[in-house]
This record gives sequence, C-alpha cells and structure tokens, in this order.
Amino acid sequence: MMNPVFTNAAGMDKNVLQRYLALPQPDGKSMVTYVWIDGTGENLRAKTRTCDKEPKSPDDVSWWNFDGSSTGQAEGSNSEVYLKPIALFNDPFTLGQNKVVLCETYNFDMKPTVTNHRAKCIEAMLAAKDQHPIFGLEQEYTLMDRDGWPFGWPKGGYPQPQGPFYCGIGACLALGRDLVESHYKACLYAGVNIRGTNAEVMPAQWEYQVGPSEGIDAADQLWMSRYLLQRIAEEFGTQVSFHPKPIAGDWNGAGCHTNFSTLVMREPNGINAIHTAIERLKARHHTHIKVYGKDNERRLTGRHETASIHEFSAGVANRGASIRIPRQVDEEKCGYFEDRRPASNCDPYAVTSIIVRTVCLGEQD
Ligand code: ADP
Ligand code: MN
Ligand code: MN
Ligand code: MN
Ligand code: MN
Repeated sequence: MMNPVFTNAAGMDKNVLQRYLALPQPDGKSMVTYVWIDGTGENLRAKTRTCDKEPKSPDDVSWWNFDGSSTGQAEGSNSEVYLKPIALFNDPFTLGQNKVVLCETYNFDMKPTVTNHRAKCIEAMLAAKDQHPIFGLEQEYTLMDRDGWPFGWPKGGYPQPQGPFYCGIGACLALGRDLVESHYKACLYAGVNIRGTNAEVMPAQWEYQVGPSEGIDAADQLWMSRYLLQRIAEEFGTQVSFHPKPIAGDWNGAGCHTNFSTLVMREPNGINAIHTAIERLKARHHTHIKVYGKDNERRLTGRHETASIHEFSAGVANRGASIRIPRQVDEEKCGYFEDRRPASNCDPYAVTSIIVRTVCLGEQD
C-alpha cells in the first residue's frame, strides 16, 4: 500500500521565498510561464521566460518550443515541439505584471501533436457557434499525501465510512480545506471563471465548478484551473490525483460532470431540444465513453452515484443515470442537462468537442 515517502522538497522555507518575491521588478519585464498538456494527455508541464513587454492577450506572447523527447511528445532526433499561446492569465504566484499562458502543442510539420485535442475542439465550436453552446464543468479530485495515501487518512488504515464528509466541516471531516480555499482565490485572481466548490462524499475528495462558459473557453479555463491546483498542492507538499477511482471499495470515484446547454435549450420549451440531444447521445454512448477518461470503467459501476459504463440511461434528478435532467429544468421546461459520465481525468477538449459534434452538429458513428 505505501510507497517510499518523498521528503517535502517542494516546501522550502516560505519566509525566504517572500524576501525575493518582494523584490521590485523592472517595468517592461514580465515573467511568462508557458503551460501545456504533455504526452500523457493528462499531465501539464510548464516553463518560464522573460518577455520585454507585459502581454495583454495571448497574441502578444510569441510561440516557443520545448524538448518533446522529454515529455513523450517527440523523438530525440527530431525533438522540438512548438508552443502556441492560446489563453492568458494573471500569475497568482509571482503577481504583478507576470502571466501564465496556456498553450497548444504542434509538431515540427505544424500538425497538432497526438494529445492536442484543442485543435479539433475549436473546429467543432466554430461550426456550432450560432447555437451558443455553454458548459459548466464540475472538476472532482482527490488530495493525496506524498506516500500516495489520501491526505489526512489514518496511516495504514481507513476513515469512518462515507456519510459525514460531503460538504462536511471539522478537522476529521474536511481534509485539506486550506488548499481548496487557496485554489479558489488563485483562480479568481488569475481570471479563471470558477463558480463554486464543495467537499465530496469520499474524505479528501473535493470538487470545484468552472463555467458556465461558452465554446472553447470552458475547456481552456478548466485546464488552467488544473494547473493552478497542481501548483498550489506542490506548495502545500501534497499531491492531486485526478484518477477516477483512486481507492477501490466503498469509496466514491471522481468525475467531471459536464453540464451543457445550447441557446434553444435555454429558451421557452427548450426541454424538447434537451430530449433530442439525449436521443443523439444515446446512439453514440460507446463513442463518447472512449474519450471520457482512462480507467473510467472502475468508476462507472452503477454504484456510488454512477450509471454502468455499459448502458446509457437518462432521468430527471437521477444521479444513477448517465444523463441527469435537473428537477428545476424539468419543471421550467428549459435550461440544461448534466452528462455524468466524464471522468475526473478526462480531457475537457475531447469531452466538449464530442458533445457539440453529437448534439449540435448531428454527427453519427
Ligand atoms: P450538482 O453537483 O448538483 O451536479 P453543481 O452546482 O456542482 O451541480 O454544478 C452545476 C453546474 O451547472 C454549475 O457549475 C453551472 O456552471 C452549470 N450550469 C448552470 N446552468 C447551465 C446552463 N444553462 N448550461 C450549462 N451549464 C450550466
Ligand atoms: Mn537544457
Ligand atoms: Mn457538483
Ligand atoms: Mn460532485
Ligand atoms: Mn454534478
């Protein structure tokens, strides 16, 4: 069960750090951290350089490159992968005129890398632009100690059974709240459209919501929120797991429920468009599941507030269904629906892209 435990090497003396963060920074020198998805399709990498002018938009940040042979994205003999800046945020770690820029990755031949799902996502979003697709993403994750056991759990043992932890308060129920609140503030500062947060059913598992955001923006924002989360966890000397079933047994898994609507769904009698969408989703269940995250079969068991991965289902207020129509939406006859299938480790570009392709563009297998 236990791995050899890393020392808290990331947690150096924060008082010393403060002395240097407080140094005045010359005008016209901006530290810009480039962030990208690596060859795993799940992990982020980042590196920083100085720009001579404070960027105001991603277009002000020039392309860069990195050693793709060290990230599972290229051969050593042809190792350079390009970074294309696409979304700019304020850096909540170094403050001032410093920025974080989310990037897409391109091979030497200017084709998107294998794990760059944004390139196809943006095509779908542009094609469906007039339908105004919007997304609200519920990102769940589990805090882990450096030994790989959930943060705050008894060493070599388990906490009491699930029940009091969801939205719980108290030292033995809410495990790691300092990190959660730090992340919330950092997202707001950075310019990430975070909407809320709550403690989850499994102890040391948390959720935050990003959106509602239109089109490509939702996935861009979610990826940046993940970067901030990992960086803050680093400072606290803890780890973040996006695994959909981090602990086997009677412990809830972690998902990325994807709430979705188009303009017609939000307007009077939009419920009809919601039902049409559900029919289309039903016909492509297995195609969707393929891009909804690795190891999702361990989570979508039909237990712990999930539907079976093998069957599609939909229902009003039903948390055991693939698709849930919120009670209020059913009553008001308009609004949105929730796709409960995506795993916490999904790529939101792949998820939002296929939803738009199936629901808005009528794509079929
Ligand atoms: P629950 O935990 O009950 O599933 P949450 O409050 O965690 O619900 O998440 C619901 C999400 O639905 C919110 O984060 C919000 O962004 C999103 N949402 C609300 N209205 C819409 C809409 N019209 N279209 C898409 N998403 C929406
Ligand atoms: Mn080097
Ligand atoms: Mn939620
Ligand atoms: Mn949840
Ligand atoms: Mn939900």
